[in-house]
Amino acid sequence: MRGAHFHSGLDFKTNQVTGYPVHAAYDGYVSRLRVQFGGFGHAIYITHPNGFTTVYGHVKTFSPAMEKLIKAEQYKQQSFEVDFKLDPLQLLVCQGEVIAISGNEGASAGPHLHFEIRDTQTEETINPQLFGLTIPDKIPPVITGIGIYHLDGNPFSEKTPRQFLAVTGSNGNYHLTKPQTIDLMGQIGFGISTTDMTSVSPNHNGIYSCELKVDDKTTYTFAVERFAFDQTHAINAYIDYPELMRTHRWVQKCFILPGSKISLYPQSVNRGIFDFNDDALHEVKYVVKDVAGNTSTLSLKVKAGHADSNMPVAKTGGDLFHYDQKNEFGNDKFKVMIMPGNLYDDLLFTYKTLPKRPGAFSATYSIQNKFTPVHDSYELWIKPDSAIGKYTDKAVIVSTDGAMAGGTYEDGYIKAEPRTFGDFFIKLDTVPPVIVALNIKPGARLSAAKRISFRIGDNLSGIKSYAGKIDGKWVLMEWDFKSKILGYSFNADIAPGKHIFELTVTDYKNNSRYFTAPFTR
Ligand SMILES: [Zn+2]
Repeated sequence: MRGAHFHSGLDFKTNQVTGYPVHAAYDGYVSRLRVQFGGFGHAIYITHPNGFTTVYGHVKTFSPAMEKLIKAEQYKQQSFEVDFKLDPLQLLVCQGEVIAISGNEGASAGPHLHFEIRDTQTEETINPQLFGLTIPDKIPPVITGIGIYHLDGNPFSEKTPRQFLAVTGSNGNYHLTKPQTIDLMGQIGFGISTTDMTSVSPNHNGIYSCELKVDDKTTYTFAVERFAFDQTHAINAYIDYPELMRTHRWVQKCFILPGSKISLYPQSVNRGIFDFNDDALHEVKYVVKDVAGNTSTLSLKVKAGHADSNMPVAKTGGDLFHYDQKNEFGNDKFKVMIMPGNLYDDLLFTYKTLPKRPGAFSATYSIQNKFTPVHDSYELWIKPDSAIGKYTDKAVIVSTDGAMAGGTYEDGYIKAEPRTFGDFFIKLDTVPPVIVALNIKPGARLSAAKRISFRIGDNLSGIKSYAGKIDGKWVLMEWDFKSKILGYSFNADIAPGKHIFELTVTDYKNNSRYFTAPFTR
């Protein structure tokens, strides 16, 4: 489990350093190469004749044959970032062949190799540990707490009454810290906080599977086998997202939201929601496993039919939005449109109009709240003040936490596609990006330099494009995600003598900054 996505493969640590050879897992052909500012940074996709594709991410350098193809593509597209497919006979590889050197490129938090196995046809990613790629593991998962959700026919939300119960135990045997029979009545969902470790690493990983049984009958299972990338954000439907936002507590729900499409639930009865209504004593049992089969269990007794009178009742109010329909809401100041698939459950939609902030060109609109997850995005239109005048093409919608949601002018409104709910208003971006030259100034002598380096940044809408030129010809500038340094590496094309360097950096609102300097090589 990662923030806003499921991790899609295995990360192999490389002793805090880069530079290990990366070998092809099996015979096949290089089917795709990608250079990206964030994400995997540098990635190789190898398609195998057995129906699977393996992926190698964050590598430092590619094999010389791949480096050559990538350079050619970068100059052809005049872009550092490239993502292209190769023909099946273009670049064959054998099992064990060195295809890359391990690195820490892109949005990587430390040197490692990210490795995936995908279904070539569907592109679903599959748990590599199901292929016999086993990791020594004698340690069963650890259960640190459970959650109880009083759903009672209402959509799941931050207002759902919930209890968290402390858990004690070790070595696979867990129980409630205060053993007791819990009184529950009505439609109840359960949750669990659990992590797993292998025998060879101090890292806390996700579990492989979780099964919930009521009176020895399975009501819910979860198993990390395969998922499609367009469903990765649905981790926010799997976890108790409101609780994560409110308290940073990770609880994995053992019931399924109606709008969640992730394929990680092999079986369930009534979406895992159990109706306690018969005055009987029930046993609820969690069975949690890692992929090596190490198992942890926790059981609790439930007395049905006695409501806890201290439980707050879910509040109602607002407009009802349906997870499986197109939902629209608006007035003459703002509009919201949510397409089907972007909500995981029905929603009592609420909004507030807050006072205008200094420098804003609209009031602040509080759209739903940060506790409700959005699968991909929704459309938000805000009408700007008349003071915006002719600057509609410089307007962006920003959230009060500083994130930019985009901005295009349409029918008198500024339109954006935010990925979260929250508080939004209109701002103008008329400020061009910043260019800080690190080792070049007009007249510089760069005969010994290996690179020309800059730090670039933008205050609001973000950097859309950058282009470096030497003597009027486009040159490849590489932009590093972590250092934010944009650099050109000298090659033999630049002969000793006088040259002119130029750099143009443009933000998403088309504000440009230009830098130029003659230099001697
Ligand atoms: Zn990874």
